[in-house]
Amino acid sequence: MKAVTFQGAGEVRVEEKPAPELGAADDVIVRVEASGICGSDLHIYHGRVPVEPGFTIGHEFVGTVLAAGEEVERLAVGDRVLGCFHTACATCSACLRGDYHRCRKGRTFGHGSHLGDLQGAQAEQLLVPRANLTLRRVPEGMSSDVALFAGDVMGTGFHAVVNAGMKPGDTVAVLGLGPVGLCAAQAALAGGAVRVLAVDTVEPRLAMAAELGATPVHLTEQDPKREVRAATDGEGADVAVDAVGSPESLTLAVSLARDAGTVAGIGAYSGRAELPIGLAWLKGLQLRLGQANVIAHVDRVLGLMAAGKLDPSPLVSAHMPLAEAEEAYRVYDRREALKIVLTP
Ligand SMILES: [Zn+2]
Ligand SMILES: [Zn+2]
Repeated sequence: MKAVTFQGAGEVRVEEKPAPELGAADDVIVRVEASGICGSDLHIYHGRVPVEPGFTIGHEFVGTVLAAGEEVERLAVGDRVLGCFHTACATCSACLRGDYHRCRKGRTFGHGSHLGDLQGAQAEQLLVPRANLTLRRVPEGMSSDVALFAGDVMGTGFHAVVNAGMKPGDTVAVLGLGPVGLCAAQAALAGGAVRVLAVDTVEPRLAMAAELGATPVHLTEQDPKREVRAATDGEGADVAVDAVGSPESLTLAVSLARDAGTVAGIGAYSGRAELPIGLAWLKGLQLRLGQANVIAHVDRVLGLMAAGKLDPSPLVSAHMPLAEAEEAYRVYDRREALKIVLTP
């Protein structure tokens, strides 16, 4: 089968690999119908996340069950399914609390041996462990473009606002209008936010935010703090979502949040940083950080997407054949697309 493999910084290759085989009794083999290229794949592409050369990458997928182990109870051969971007064991202490994103034995698709040694989804076939928990049936009539988002990008945007405790009537600021930021804006509006101020510098992304019902705010040509104040009688945002993941964006989120508001850092931070911790303390802010618990949210996200209340389809900017993945990565790296869907 064809598979997209990481080779070295700036290089991926489409290679022939043996098809995967069932191992554990709760494994499933999926024939992949569509897989997404994601911002986190670019971290791998640039060598910032260590992945072994020759490892198959990709973690967003929709497909059909080709084979299922005998302990797979919730799915059958022939079912059309979508996956979450990682697996969870369902029995460790974190899973028993419902914190699937912190599973002690969790494995992330397509991220090399340091994140569970699980081959990726940008391939014609995929081995899915813990399939009872990792996979869901695609609701009747849902396109793969939409379903693809449930187990990663939309689940992450949804997590940002739900985990922040956003309430109907809230004002939300979203920093960074990549796919996750745009999905967070949609999730906030679907959850009853009265307004979402969406901050970025890239015009097409601001235009997309406006199309989705948010108020676009240009990071440098406007003053986000003034815009948020003006929209909230000087109070500030109930929830400020940082979908960038940098010290600068987190600092701005702290300044945009109201007193006793919440800052939700959903971007991937690393290392150490200087932060206005005194201001955060003075404001009495809640900080909610970390990767999204997509397994916990996936059924509600699918329900909202099936009802049309969340619709990520405008974010899909291109479809390309899996065989042209090398070009697809170059296009994605130039930020010419919000989401590229690869089809075998
Ligand atoms: Zn992703
Ligand atoms: Zn677990």
